[in-house]
Amino acid sequence: MTASRLWDVIVVGAGPAGSTAAALLAGRGFDVLVLEKDEFPRFHIGESLLPAGLTVLDDLSIEPDDDVFMFKRGAQFLRESTGLSSSFDFADALGGPPRHAWHVDRASFDTMLRDKASARGALVRHGVTVADMQVDAEFAAVETSYGTERARFIVDASGQDRFVAKLRQATVPYAHFGRAAAFAHFSGLSDEALEVIGPGSDIRIMMVEGGWLWVIHLPGRRLSVGLVSKKPGLTGRALHREIAASPLLRCLTHGTEATPSELVSGFSYRNDAKSGPRYACIGDAACFLDPVFSSGVSLALLGAEGLVQRLAPALQDGSEANANLYLEESAKMDEGYRAFALLIHRFYNTRLVDNVVLNSPADGELRSCITSMLAGDVWREGNLFRDMLFRSRIQI
Ligand SMILES: Cc1cc2nc3c(=O)[nH]c(=O)nc-3n(C[C@H](O)[C@H](O)[C@H](O)COP(=O)(O)OP(=O)(O)OC[C@H]3O[C@@H](n4cnc5c(N)ncnc54)[C@H](O)[C@@H]3O)c2cc1C
Repeated sequence: MTASRLWDVIVVGAGPAGSTAAALLAGRGFDVLVLEKDEFPRFHIGESLLPAGLTVLDDLSIEPDDDVFMFKRGAQFLRESTGLSSSFDFADALGGPPRHAWHVDRASFDTMLRDKASARGALVRHGVTVADMQVDAEFAAVETSYGTERARFIVDASGQDRFVAKLRQATVPYAHFGRAAAFAHFSGLSDEALEVIGPGSDIRIMMVEGGWLWVIHLPGRRLSVGLVSKKPGLTGRALHREIAASPLLRCLTHGTEATPSELVSGFSYRNDAKSGPRYACIGDAACFLDPVFSSGVSLALLGAEGLVQRLAPALQDGSEANANLYLEESAKMDEGYRAFALLIHRFYNTRLVDNVVLNSPADGELRSCITSMLAGDVWREGNLFRDMLFRSRIQI
């Protein structure tokens, strides 16, 4: 690899954020190089999408293939110990985004997006880790495991590795959200399990002592189950203890084969150096809140699209070095992150779930307003539930 070529854009990371940005930029005729440290397909957690992100998939002409995409009607919250449950159907949200979402097999989904970036003309190199970035008046350069690459603009889409945030020591953790997660996949779901899951394949969010569980139906008779704890020190055994203690999960996982459980922690933070001269961070490289409302991938897709809307004209007129290029769009993304953060804060630290989510009337405006937020429609004004979150004295 030589440093002679000057790319229009180098994208670090080929996850949903990076591949989307690369596909949209290459589709507009820019020279795009994507550097991805892993070989694809590779496992990734984060399998439940929101309606708000689906418009980006349409813009990319992604065809929802049955082997990769599972229809998701909405979200069901439940607390088995009290027998209370409440379902939110995206079709009941305030008008705007699509009326459903998808669960996806991330290994295949991320590969589809990567292939879209390649098909539109981006060069994707796997097995290349980006380690450093330097910016000067003429261009930006990244140091990789194979040498130096130069571009007019760098997009950091490196996910939880948050390459720029670490370089700039700009990570600010969210201390009062979920602290750790243990998860596994279960394959070979029985007919009875499929019947219990139902045709809507809602994501289930099950409240348990000290945290909550996600239950996501994946293509190929598979289930993703994860336990998120408010405390550190979670183990894979705790996941299996919760499954054994739950009548619903015992039924759903009966006779299945489980993958070894995986553990992650320290995933909630924001990056206070999200953009500057010749660079911007999108997706988890900019911020990741919490798994609970499945906002990560959708905000990654929307963030990528928003960046491209600003960056493409700047590349055309040569103003991409402007340090303020991304500020307005970044403020818009921050508003969406804040809406979710206010909701997440209440989820973990107040009685929101028991008092409001599990007890809201089965129809009416409040339910539509909550459903809109759960659908990722977090920028909409005139949503009384969202307005209440923003006006409340509980802020973070
Ligand atoms: C426990 C848990 C559960 C979750 N559940 C959900 C969910 O149900 N729904 C949802 O929407 N989201 C969920 N998420 C979040 C979701 O996984 C992320 O928000 C999403 O993957 C972000 O996409 P991205 O493209 O920003 O980053 P990623 O998908 O992580 O992609 C980043 C890519 O960059 C590459 N990379 C990293 N560093 C470098 C480097 N230095 N050089 C080159 N390449 C690099 C990585 O290999 C990776 O392929 C969950 C997260 C956690 C922790």
